[in-house]
Amino acid sequence: MADTSKTEEQEALEAGRKLFAQECRFIAGAMALEALPPPSLPEIAFAGRSNVGKSSLVNALTGRKTLAKVSSMPGRTQQINFFDLGGRLMLVDLPGYGYSKVGKAKSALWTATTQVFLKGRPTLRRVMLLIDARRGPNAHDRAAMDQFDEAAVSFQAVLTKADKVEPDDLAQLLKSLAKELAGHVAAHPDIAVTSAYDGTGIPALRAALAELAQ
Ligand code: GDP
Repeated sequence: MADTSKTEEQEALEAGRKLFAQECRFIAGAMALEALPPPSLPEIAFAGRSNVGKSSLVNALTGRKTLAKVSSMPGRTQQINFFDLGGRLMLVDLPGYGYSKVGKAKSALWTATTQVFLKGRPTLRRVMLLIDARRGPNAHDRAAMDQFDEAAVSFQAVLTKADKVEPDDLAQLLKSLAKELAGHVAAHPDIAVTSAYDGTGIPALRAALAELAQ
Protein backbone atom coordinates (compact mmCIF):
# COMPACT_ATOMS: atom_id res chain seq x y z
CA MET A 1 0.00 0.00 0.00
CA ALA A 2 2.79 2.36 0.91
CA ASP A 3 4.27 1.76 -2.53
CA THR A 4 1.06 2.85 -4.25
CA SER A 5 0.87 6.14 -2.38
CA LYS A 6 4.50 6.83 -3.08
CA THR A 7 3.86 6.35 -6.78
CA GLU A 8 0.89 8.72 -6.61
CA GLU A 9 3.00 11.31 -4.85
CA GLN A 10 5.73 10.95 -7.45
CA GLU A 11 3.17 11.29 -10.22
CA ALA A 12 1.80 14.46 -8.64
CA LEU A 13 5.30 15.92 -8.33
CA GLU A 14 6.01 15.03 -11.94
CA ALA A 15 2.73 16.65 -13.07
CA GLY A 16 3.71 19.80 -11.17
CA ARG A 17 7.20 19.83 -12.62
CA LYS A 18 5.84 19.45 -16.16
CA LEU A 19 3.21 22.15 -15.75
CA PHE A 20 5.68 24.68 -14.39
CA ALA A 21 8.22 23.86 -17.10
CA GLN A 22 5.75 25.26 -19.64
CA GLU A 23 5.98 28.73 -21.03
CA CYS A 24 4.66 31.44 -18.70
CA ARG A 25 3.47 34.61 -20.37
CA PHE A 26 2.48 37.98 -18.96
CA ILE A 27 -1.07 38.55 -20.20
CA ALA A 28 -2.33 41.73 -18.57
CA GLY A 29 -1.91 44.15 -15.71
CA ALA A 30 -5.26 45.48 -14.57
CA MET A 31 -5.83 48.57 -12.45
CA ALA A 32 -9.52 48.83 -13.25
CA LEU A 33 -12.29 46.31 -13.64
CA GLU A 34 -12.62 46.99 -17.36
CA ALA A 35 -8.99 45.96 -17.77
CA LEU A 36 -9.40 42.49 -16.28
CA PRO A 37 -8.88 39.84 -18.94
CA PRO A 38 -12.05 37.82 -19.56
CA PRO A 39 -12.25 34.69 -17.38
CA SER A 40 -10.82 31.71 -19.25
CA LEU A 41 -8.35 29.37 -17.53
CA PRO A 42 -8.58 28.21 -13.93
CA GLU A 43 -6.92 30.89 -11.81
CA ILE A 44 -4.66 30.80 -8.75
CA ALA A 45 -4.15 34.14 -7.05
CA PHE A 46 -1.15 35.02 -4.87
CA ALA A 47 -1.76 37.42 -2.02
CA GLY A 48 0.22 38.73 0.91
CA ARG A 49 1.68 41.77 2.56
CA SER A 50 4.32 43.72 0.67
CA ASN A 51 7.76 42.20 1.08
CA VAL A 52 6.41 38.77 2.08
CA GLY A 53 8.37 37.22 -0.80
CA LYS A 54 5.58 36.96 -3.37
CA SER A 55 7.65 37.87 -6.43
CA SER A 56 10.42 35.53 -5.32
CA LEU A 57 7.97 32.66 -4.81
CA VAL A 58 6.27 33.11 -8.19
CA ASN A 59 9.69 33.25 -9.83
CA ALA A 60 10.85 30.13 -7.96
CA LEU A 61 7.70 28.24 -9.00
CA THR A 62 8.08 29.15 -12.63
CA GLY A 63 11.88 28.88 -12.63
CA ARG A 64 12.20 32.35 -14.07
CA LYS A 65 14.18 35.12 -12.54
CA THR A 66 12.29 38.13 -13.77
CA LEU A 67 8.71 37.05 -14.33
CA ALA A 68 7.08 38.70 -11.34
CA LYS A 69 9.34 41.71 -11.57
CA VAL A 70 6.75 43.37 -13.73
CA SER A 71 4.44 43.56 -10.74
CA SER A 72 6.89 45.48 -8.61
CA MET A 73 7.67 48.08 -11.24
CA PRO A 74 6.73 51.58 -10.11
CA GLY A 75 3.10 52.35 -10.88
CA ARG A 76 2.26 48.68 -11.23
CA THR A 77 2.22 47.76 -7.58
CA GLN A 78 -1.54 48.24 -7.41
CA GLN A 79 -2.21 46.22 -10.53
CA ILE A 80 -3.53 42.70 -10.70
CA ASN A 81 -1.09 40.88 -12.98
CA PHE A 82 -2.06 37.82 -15.00
CA PHE A 83 0.38 35.17 -16.24
CA ASP A 84 -0.72 32.35 -18.53
CA LEU A 85 1.08 29.12 -17.63
CA GLY A 86 1.15 26.80 -20.61
CA GLY A 87 -2.45 27.56 -21.55
CA ARG A 88 -3.54 25.51 -18.53
CA LEU A 89 -3.45 27.77 -15.50
CA MET A 90 -3.56 31.52 -14.92
CA LEU A 91 -1.28 32.78 -12.16
CA VAL A 92 -2.70 35.98 -10.72
CA ASP A 93 -0.41 38.28 -8.75
CA LEU A 94 -2.52 40.47 -6.46
CA PRO A 95 -1.23 43.79 -5.10
CA GLY A 96 0.68 43.48 -1.84
CA TYR A 97 -1.05 45.05 1.14
CA GLY A 98 -0.18 46.75 4.38
CA TYR A 99 2.85 48.74 3.43
CA SER A 100 3.18 52.49 3.78
CA LYS A 101 4.50 52.96 0.25
CA VAL A 102 0.95 52.82 -0.98
CA GLY A 103 0.30 56.10 0.78
CA LYS A 104 -3.28 57.01 1.48
CA ALA A 105 -4.67 53.74 0.22
CA LYS A 106 -2.71 51.80 2.83
CA SER A 107 -5.57 51.71 5.31
CA ALA A 108 -7.73 49.79 2.87
CA LEU A 109 -6.61 46.20 2.52
CA TRP A 110 -7.01 46.22 -1.21
CA THR A 111 -8.31 48.43 -3.99
CA ALA A 112 -11.93 48.13 -5.03
CA THR A 113 -10.80 46.33 -8.18
CA THR A 114 -9.09 43.58 -6.20
CA GLN A 115 -12.07 43.21 -3.90
CA VAL A 116 -14.47 42.88 -6.81
CA PHE A 117 -12.09 40.43 -8.47
CA LEU A 118 -12.03 38.25 -5.35
CA LYS A 119 -15.80 38.28 -4.98
CA GLY A 120 -16.94 37.73 -8.51
CA ARG A 121 -14.35 35.79 -10.47
CA PRO A 122 -15.91 32.51 -11.63
CA THR A 123 -12.56 31.03 -12.70
CA LEU A 124 -10.74 31.74 -9.41
CA ARG A 125 -9.89 28.35 -7.92
CA ARG A 126 -7.83 29.34 -4.92
CA VAL A 127 -5.95 32.17 -3.29
CA MET A 128 -2.52 31.35 -1.94
CA LEU A 129 -2.11 33.57 1.12
CA LEU A 130 1.60 34.11 1.69
CA ILE A 131 2.75 34.54 5.27
CA ASP A 132 6.30 35.24 6.38
CA ALA A 133 7.44 32.19 8.38
CA ARG A 134 9.53 34.42 10.65
CA ARG A 135 6.58 36.53 11.70
CA GLY A 136 3.36 34.59 11.34
CA PRO A 137 0.09 36.30 10.38
CA ASN A 138 -0.52 39.94 11.28
CA ALA A 139 -3.70 42.04 11.41
CA HIS A 140 -3.67 42.61 7.64
CA ASP A 141 -3.37 38.88 6.95
CA ARG A 142 -6.23 38.21 9.34
CA ALA A 143 -8.37 40.84 7.62
CA ALA A 144 -7.59 39.12 4.31
CA MET A 145 -8.66 35.74 5.74
CA ASP A 146 -11.95 37.27 6.91
CA GLN A 147 -12.44 38.72 3.47
CA PHE A 148 -11.90 35.33 1.81
CA ASP A 149 -14.43 33.78 4.19
CA GLU A 150 -16.97 36.47 3.32
CA ALA A 151 -16.38 36.15 -0.41
CA ALA A 152 -16.40 32.33 -0.15
CA VAL A 153 -13.02 32.19 -1.89
CA SER A 154 -11.00 29.09 -1.05
CA PHE A 155 -7.61 30.06 0.34
CA GLN A 156 -4.48 28.25 1.40
CA ALA A 157 -1.71 29.51 3.66
CA VAL A 158 1.81 29.43 2.24
CA LEU A 159 4.69 30.17 4.58
CA THR A 160 7.59 31.96 2.90
CA LYS A 161 11.27 32.35 3.87
CA ALA A 162 11.27 29.02 5.73
CA ASP A 163 15.07 28.97 5.41
CA LYS A 164 15.13 31.75 8.01
CA VAL A 165 13.40 29.90 10.84
CA GLU A 166 14.50 27.24 13.27
CA PRO A 167 12.63 23.91 13.05
CA ASP A 168 11.14 24.34 16.54
CA ASP A 169 9.80 27.79 15.76
CA LEU A 170 8.41 26.54 12.47
CA ALA A 171 6.67 23.64 14.19
CA GLN A 172 5.12 26.02 16.70
CA LEU A 173 3.91 28.38 13.98
CA LEU A 174 2.42 25.48 12.01
CA LYS A 175 0.53 24.38 15.10
CA SER A 176 -0.91 27.78 15.95
CA LEU A 177 -1.69 28.62 12.34
CA ALA A 178 -3.50 25.31 11.79
CA LYS A 179 -5.64 26.12 14.81
CA GLU A 180 -6.36 29.59 13.50
CA LEU A 181 -7.21 28.33 9.99
CA ALA A 182 -9.65 25.83 11.45
CA GLY A 183 -11.76 28.85 12.40
CA HIS A 184 -12.03 30.01 8.78
CA VAL A 185 -14.67 28.38 6.61
CA ALA A 186 -12.81 29.18 3.38
CA ALA A 187 -9.42 27.91 4.54
CA HIS A 188 -7.78 24.87 3.00
CA PRO A 189 -6.35 22.75 5.83
CA ASP A 190 -2.92 22.21 4.23
CA ILE A 191 -0.20 24.75 4.96
CA ALA A 192 2.61 24.96 2.41
CA VAL A 193 6.09 25.61 3.78
CA THR A 194 8.38 27.22 1.21
CA SER A 195 11.65 28.96 0.62
CA ALA A 196 12.42 30.67 -2.66
CA TYR A 197 16.06 30.71 -1.58
CA ASP A 198 16.73 27.01 -0.99
CA GLY A 199 13.75 25.58 -2.90
CA THR A 200 12.00 24.05 0.11
CA GLY A 201 8.41 23.12 -0.72
CA ILE A 202 8.53 24.39 -4.30
CA PRO A 203 8.02 20.99 -6.03
CA ALA A 204 5.19 20.15 -3.60
CA LEU A 205 3.47 23.49 -4.22
CA ARG A 206 3.79 23.01 -7.98
CA ALA A 207 2.14 19.61 -7.57
CA ALA A 208 -0.72 21.06 -5.51
CA LEU A 209 -1.31 23.78 -8.11
CA ALA A 210 -1.15 21.29 -11.00
CA GLU A 211 -4.13 19.53 -9.44
CA LEU A 212 -6.12 22.71 -9.91
CA ALA A 213 -5.02 23.23 -13.55
CA GLN A 214 -7.02 22.45 -16.64
P1 GDP B 1 7.26 40.85 -2.52
O1 GDP B 1 7.25 42.31 -2.20
O2 GDP B 1 6.25 40.11 -1.70
O3 GDP B 1 7.14 40.55 -3.99
O4 GDP B 1 8.66 40.28 -1.99
P2 GDP B 1 10.02 39.95 -2.75
O5 GDP B 1 9.94 38.66 -3.50
O6 GDP B 1 10.45 41.15 -3.52
O7 GDP B 1 10.99 39.69 -1.50
C1 GDP B 1 11.10 40.61 -0.44
C2 GDP B 1 12.41 40.39 0.29
O8 GDP B 1 12.45 39.11 0.90
C3 GDP B 1 13.61 40.44 -0.64
O9 GDP B 1 14.67 41.07 0.05
C4 GDP B 1 13.94 38.99 -0.89
O10 GDP B 1 15.29 38.79 -1.19
C5 GDP B 1 13.54 38.34 0.41
N1 GDP B 1 13.10 36.94 0.21
C6 GDP B 1 12.18 36.51 -0.68
N2 GDP B 1 12.04 35.17 -0.60
C7 GDP B 1 12.90 34.73 0.34
C8 GDP B 1 13.22 33.43 0.88
O11 GDP B 1 12.70 32.38 0.50
N3 GDP B 1 14.15 33.39 1.89
C9 GDP B 1 14.75 34.51 2.34
N4 GDP B 1 15.64 34.38 3.32
N5 GDP B 1 14.48 35.75 1.88
C10 GDP B 1 13.57 35.86 0.88
